[in-house]
Amino acid sequence: MNKENPRQEIEDAIDAGDLNRLLKMNGMLHGHFCPFSAIGVKAAARAVRELGVRSTGMEEVVAIVETNNCFSDGIQFVTGCSFGNNALIYRDFGKTAFTLAKRSGEGIRISVRADRVTEERSPEATELWEKVVVKRSGNEADNKRLNELWKEMAFRILELTDEEVFDIKKVTVDVPAYARIFTSVKCSVCGENVMEPRARMKDGKHICLACSNQEYYQLAGDGISTVTR
Ligand SMILES: [Zn+2]
Ligand SMILES: [Zn+2]
Repeated sequence: MNKENPRQEIEDAIDAGDLNRLLKMNGMLHGHFCPFSAIGVKAAARAVRELGVRSTGMEEVVAIVETNNCFSDGIQFVTGCSFGNNALIYRDFGKTAFTLAKRSGEGIRISVRADRVTEERSPEATELWEKVVVKRSGNEADNKRLNELWKEMAFRILELTDEEVFDIKKVTVDVPAYARIFTSVKCSVCGENVMEPRARMKDGKHICLACSNQEYYQLAGDGISTVTR
């Protein structure tokens, strides 16, 4: 293994067009094998190859995801644009689509024909999906069986042609500036350090959002919302 590049194995698999290997590795991040993580892997590999980009996690390439479902983990893993390295931009559109862009703004948007992906679901898988995921009323055997079916479906989906499942467009993107580095201040209530622009002032002292009882943004399963304590 190349010690200089921690993403060498991923890049080799992208270059070789080895989607099976990418999906297997993505399981380490995602925790299970499922259709939408598979389609994320497939879309990301296509965009990376087509744009000819490499990510070292320094924002030289950015991914804009339009959903926070399983799809997004395939995108993060294969493109190397992640929540933590500031190269992942999240637009709360609820669409299974993403754009990969260079800093120059040259980009590719891939939107997934989600109904085509769902067509691959067998009646048994659909029934179990309702029971286990939607109603959260599955037992251990149901969970196990759904996992098996999902895994089969995930690897099968990789075999579909890109044209069947994707709409691919060249786009020009307004790429945000590099993430700024902010100084920290200390919250006068809890004593924790907080990034300066997130701190508020109370009685002439810094106070963090958690201690201030003010509204803040939260990204959760339902998307971005404002929360007040
Ligand atoms: Zn999943
Ligand atoms: Zn505080």
